[in-house]
Amino acid sequence: MAIERTLSIIKPDATRRNLTGRINAKFEEAGLRIIAQKRIHLTLAQAQKFYEVHRERPFFGELTTFMASGPVVVQVLEGEAAITRNREVMGATNPANAAAGTIRKEFALSVGENSVHGSDAPETAAVEIAYFFSGLELVG
Ligand code: ATP
Ligand code: MG
Repeated sequence: MAIERTLSIIKPDATRRNLTGRINAKFEEAGLRIIAQKRIHLTLAQAQKFYEVHRERPFFGELTTFMASGPVVVQVLEGEAAITRNREVMGATNPANAAAGTIRKEFALSVGENSVHGSDAPETAAVEIAYFFSGLELVG
């Protein structure tokens, strides 16, 4: 497998509970390197643009309001098969279905407040990384 980069977001439910370090430890233990990272507070418009693909979904309003409700930590993770590996470390979207040891199993509060986001494919990873970071900010 090739070295990949993926966009990760530590969501407001996790930053509120001071879980940034414990979640980052999960990434690093899985062999993912945090090559860019910043803490920001999204406006509602910025959250809506990021989640544009979900605009027609019934949870769009709830999701974007939540993502703008507090600070998030946006980060770029790099490693072997980073996109798939990160999604394994994250666990299933609904924490009730997440495997033992995953971030969502240990930390998520609900299907909506599920602590982390991770890109789902190489194309979306490239678009999502460029949404938050310039090339100069990626230090592998
Ligand atoms: P993410 O894109 O955040 O990494 P995911 O790919 O596992 O998560 P998606 O189907 O892309 O899940 O949904 C995006 C986000 O929308 C989820 O992470 C969750 O926060 C929220 N979401 C998904 N389904 C629901 C739902 N039924 N009710 C409320 N929120 C939901
Ligand atoms: Mg998704």
